[in-house]
Amino acid sequence: KRIITTESLEEDIKIENNLRPQMLEDYIGQEKAKKMLKIYIKAARERGESLDHVLLYGPPGLGKTTLAGIIANEMGVNIKITSGPAIEKPGEIAAILNNLQEGDVLFVDEIHRLNRQVEEVLYPAMEDYVIDIVIGKGAGARSIRLDLPKFTLVGATTRAGMLTAPLRDRFGVVNRLEFYNENELKTIILRSAQVLGVEIDGKGAAELARRSRGTPRLANRLLKRVRDFAQVKYDGVITKEVADLALDLLDVDKYGLDYVDRNILTTMIQKFSGGPVGLETLAASIGEDAGTIEDVYEPYLLKNGFIQRTPRGRVVTDLAYHHLALE
Ligand code: ATP
Repeated sequence: KRIITTESLEEDIKIENNLRPQMLEDYIGQEKAKKMLKIYIKAARERGESLDHVLLYGPPGLGKTTLAGIIANEMGVNIKITSGPAIEKPGEIAAILNNLQEGDVLFVDEIHRLNRQVEEVLYPAMEDYVIDIVIGKGAGARSIRLDLPKFTLVGATTRAGMLTAPLRDRFGVVNRLEFYNENELKTIILRSAQVLGVEIDGKGAAELARRSRGTPRLANRLLKRVRDFAQVKYDGVITKEVADLALDLLDVDKYGLDYVDRNILTTMIQKFSGGPVGLETLAASIGEDAGTIEDVYEPYLLKNGFIQRTPRGRVVTDLAYHHLALE
């Protein structure tokens, strides 16, 4: 596994739960989403009603699970956490819904991976807070309608486009989470360091922030790794010098790129004169799957201007030549 992956790794689980901010006030960045949620939460609380269903979408590790927990805390209710692939049968989602208390938040991660039958149970549940259950079999089967407590569904997905229209339409609040800028990441790192009891100075935090690919999960993971390094090799304090040394050793460069990213760029430059090169051709020459390049490797390179997409294929930019010190 790449250390810079933004997917959750085994090593993240232990610290992530300690590092989650609990209230909106402590949730750094995402100003647009926060502003909207603040208003909706206040209004719902004043009316004594449950909050409208909320859809959060955006790349992994930007704080969707954290925000769902905060919504529950701000509303003063409990949260139940599940995920799309974990619910296999309509009966399972019916049981989960039936066990909720009035106002509770049900968080469904990877909601685009719910199967069709399960999703169909959600439609009337979200709209009218009821579920229809079929009792018996064959000619004797009949359907009964059960009332549910008024709950709030918070759905999370990496791609809103993968949701079916009927499901998407049932969310009253839709928020897209954005990558974090370096200042916001620096603030997150300083906060996490405080929680973990790690000594770090401003420049050390800025260096970590710069290499964290806009993603708090990665910022926290790198902080943890660099902490170990500082503890063993230095006197425990993360300065810019320590951060530089440790991150270079971990092969996370100044722009947060690792060997896979650099291999893609170098291959494009040395084998294809910088492009344009088609996705399939590129995939074959670096021995990767085209879909993986498109979904996992390419977005960060595109977003940061190392490559561009043209109708004839991908091309590398001057920034890539410059960064790799290639002619
Ligand atoms: P995935 O969808 O891949 O599970 P996610 O978007 O749900 O990811 P979280 O698990 O909520 O991401 O966040 C990952 C880590 O980043 C957590 O440890 C969390 O504390 C931290 N984090 C995320 N957003 C913020 C934020 N705005 N302020 C402070 N910490 C944050």
